[in-house]
Amino acid sequence: MIRSALLVLLLPSAAPAQPAPDEWFHIVPIDRQTYAISEPRYWQQNVSYLLIGSSKAVLFDSGSGTYNMRPTVERLANVPVIAIPSHLHFDHVGNIREFTRIGLLHNAGLLGQVHNGEFQETQEQLLLRNDGRKFSFRVTDWLRDGQRIDLGGRSILFVSTPGHTPDSVSLVEPASARAFTGDLVNRVAIGAFSEGADLGQTLRSLRKIRMLLGPTGGVFEGHSEQFVRRGELDSMQVGIEQVLRGKITPTDVCISGQRMLEYDFAPFSVLSAPPDGPPLRPLPSRERAAETHVSCTMRSGNTIP
Ligand SMILES: [Zn+2]
Repeated sequence: MIRSALLVLLLPSAAPAQPAPDEWFHIVPIDRQTYAISEPRYWQQNVSYLLIGSSKAVLFDSGSGTYNMRPTVERLANVPVIAIPSHLHFDHVGNIREFTRIGLLHNAGLLGQVHNGEFQETQEQLLLRNDGRKFSFRVTDWLRDGQRIDLGGRSILFVSTPGHTPDSVSLVEPASARAFTGDLVNRVAIGAFSEGADLGQTLRSLRKIRMLLGPTGGVFEGHSEQFVRRGELDSMQVGIEQVLRGKITPTDVCISGQRMLEYDFAPFSVLSAPPDGPPLRPLPSRERAAETHVSCTMRSGNTIP
């Protein structure tokens, strides 16, 4: 299920992404003002979300960057769009420079990465080596944990949800009891293997989302169009608690040529770096990452990161 990656390593800082072929983006209406925009033919099978109000819209994750998502977004939303990445891994910020408004979490660490007006990612944050080119973009909106974003007739909460990465964020819409969590939640494997990942933080963030949702609703995650229902979130929480208590024996797996531990609590699981080993190193390239995966003992359908 891991597909060979496409084309080149050119990042948006080097050249604008090409217009997408018609079938590249898969658009799934969630309701009349909310869309999932997925890339099923990209090896990570990313899913971005567009939340539209009467005065503005939020694009939550800007995709892989293989093709330009902006024309697709503008066909769906006839209002100004602010792009907010769930986190800074390469498969969630690929197209972000195509957008004039970009929002990030207001914290000292991220603010300190702004140089000459441009936010510059480290390779560990991007999780992809980029041939020495810096991946950077201009942040227009520094958003605080718990900040309400008024889209016009529609209100969403921007919340800090560290765990998958230290700077991961989610959007919660209390009125619809829906949250959009990026990689905090993953149906196949909850990722706690890259730089700064912390499974204890993941658990606290999951509790925070469940509390904000209340007793119903659920989550849209970053690598599947399939809604994660409240009961499934409850199962994930119990599973992660068991992992943290040492109740589940992990198995060795190979991710991009690097040993990882998989904690299985079917139908979900956690992937983490071994306690005596380093976090997942930045991948050599999109192509080589895909090639390396071929020799690994991964389950079919895994999407990393
Ligand atoms: Zn990620």
